[in-house]
Amino acid sequence: MKSIATSDPKMKVESGVRLIDSHAHIELEPLSNKVPEVIARALATGVIGIITVGIDYDDARAALNIARDNPIVFASIGIHPHNAKGVGDDDLGLMEQLADNPKVVAYGEIGLDFFRNHSPHDVQRGVFDDQIELAKKKNKPMVIHLRDAYAEGLGVLEKKGPYPAGGVIHCFSGDESDAQRALDLGFYISIPGTVTYKKNNQLRSIVSHIPEDRILLETDCPFLSPEPLRGKDNEPSFIIHTARKVAEVRGVELSDLALLTTNNAIRLFNLPL
Ligand SMILES: [Zn+2]
Ligand SMILES: [Zn+2]
Repeated sequence: MKSIATSDPKMKVESGVRLIDSHAHIELEPLSNKVPEVIARALATGVIGIITVGIDYDDARAALNIARDNPIVFASIGIHPHNAKGVGDDDLGLMEQLADNPKVVAYGEIGLDFFRNHSPHDVQRGVFDDQIELAKKKNKPMVIHLRDAYAEGLGVLEKKGPYPAGGVIHCFSGDESDAQRALDLGFYISIPGTVTYKKNNQLRSIVSHIPEDRILLETDCPFLSPEPLRGKDNEPSFIIHTARKVAEVRGVELSDLALLTTNNAIRLFNLPL
């Protein structure tokens, strides 16, 4: 077995494993303070691409700065539903300008979050609507964030389609019928580290049924570290644990799972990898 030497023997590359972290926040603290080390560990674990997701204008610029300096990093930009409060036309105009940067491979994360409720529902809904239009105008795939809002969010997406550039429901936490509605929209479903959590039988059941051309992997780092690293700050190299669990659930080899999820991410985001 070929492996690249790393300082941590547990983090060896497994032969043939090339992974893409389709949703990270390495522009957020604490990862933003150690980007070179985080990327080095990702490379040493077989990660060949990272999409870092800027969640407001300033964060989007930070994401783009990292993407500019690192060939394996790409940016997605959008105003997160948490930050919907106080967003005006000017903000959307600034986001639109940033979206023209060639390293911006997607628009989002946009959506609805009725779990944390950092912004009122009607405000979230208005900003979601406007940004769906913006993503369509820019012909970018959309990165969708839904939390405790699958019924309403999927309803909005169904009404405003079709989406020639496609999209992904990131950090999927819906049920079987939500997954089917996402697939019917032509969307991908992205699986985070929560699939490793003991109680998450619902997500494992969904993972076993997603068509092989529609599944992506993500860390959503620095949040949601997978087992056995739960509680630590998450980072792209930890995606190997999520990949192993998804391969196990689907009854396939890790290298095959890596190949298909990586090809899916390259296809959806048109990555030059
Ligand atoms: Zn999210
Ligand atoms: Zn995110």
